[in-house]
Amino acid sequence: MNTLLPTSTAGSLPKPSWLAQPETLWSPWKLQGDELAEGKLDALRISLADQLHSGIDIVSDGEQTRQHFVTTFIEHLSGVDFEKRQIVKIRDRYDASVPSVVGEVARLKPVFVEDARFLRQLTSHPIKWALPGPMTMIDTLYDGHYKSREKLAWEFAKILNQEARELEAAGVDIIQFDEPAFNVFFDEVNDWGIAALERAVEGLKCETAVHICYGYGIKANTDWKKTLGTEWRQYEEVFPKLQKSAIDIISLECQNSRVPMDLIELIRGKKVMVGAIDVATNAVETAEQVADTLRKALQFVDADKLYPSTNCGMVPLSRQVASGKLAALSAGADIVRREILGK
Ligand SMILES: [Zn+2]
Repeated sequence: MNTLLPTSTAGSLPKPSWLAQPETLWSPWKLQGDELAEGKLDALRISLADQLHSGIDIVSDGEQTRQHFVTTFIEHLSGVDFEKRQIVKIRDRYDASVPSVVGEVARLKPVFVEDARFLRQLTSHPIKWALPGPMTMIDTLYDGHYKSREKLAWEFAKILNQEARELEAAGVDIIQFDEPAFNVFFDEVNDWGIAALERAVEGLKCETAVHICYGYGIKANTDWKKTLGTEWRQYEEVFPKLQKSAIDIISLECQNSRVPMDLIELIRGKKVMVGAIDVATNAVETAEQVADTLRKALQFVDADKLYPSTNCGMVPLSRQVASGKLAALSAGADIVRREILGK
């Protein structure tokens, strides 16, 4: 376990083919009932073993027990009707049929706490758990009840805080909120998005992270990226306020991305999970390519605050490609670690 440049992933990892259709988002489960419950935990074990075998330091569940990073959490809440669907535009980018908020939202029981306890007893490595962020949650729903994005986000923030406190008690070291919506709705992020995120982490003693990315390598995202020009400066809109926020770690996309690396300067003082693995290509990075990205990041983040990671989740990739990328991340971090330590 490395304490200097500890490696981690942004979140999801591929599932075994006996559990869900590989290389597919929203892939339906192949098992049911007790078999499904047992299968999910077996997959979690495998995912953990893969991460440890690849030399990943801060490990996760690989999101093996959830179908989707936002929807699975919302499915556990009351106040949302999954039968009553409406077409909305997600992240201002693509139309999707989404569930409706039909009443007050509430968390009736813990969502991932049992899974986190299970992971905790399997490893002594630090563990990171991902939850959807409030703004990204509201952006994947039709709200027929609160009729206010801000109000609904605030309600979700309170619910996320309940879950986060229980995850912390279950032994989670880092709780990460996925907020790809932070790369789109800049005015809302600055008006209330960061405040909602801070409500979600209120009272936590464990470390907290926010993951802001350009999404999985799906067509809607790659098409959108083509419209963003030669320099992607989206982070510039939200970093100044995030730098002043209560969040400890910012997870962002750097590998093969057109994000100017010097934008990291805007969050000076925060720990930075630097995406050194591109999740939108099957080409496996070399250790030297990863090292190169990390070296560039080191111009703007102190070594003790640099956390080598992936650009985003890897669930749409094949297991073979994902394993190769994890190994490359680990090997690339090792090169830079040696350089820093002067070996
Ligand atoms: Zn992401």
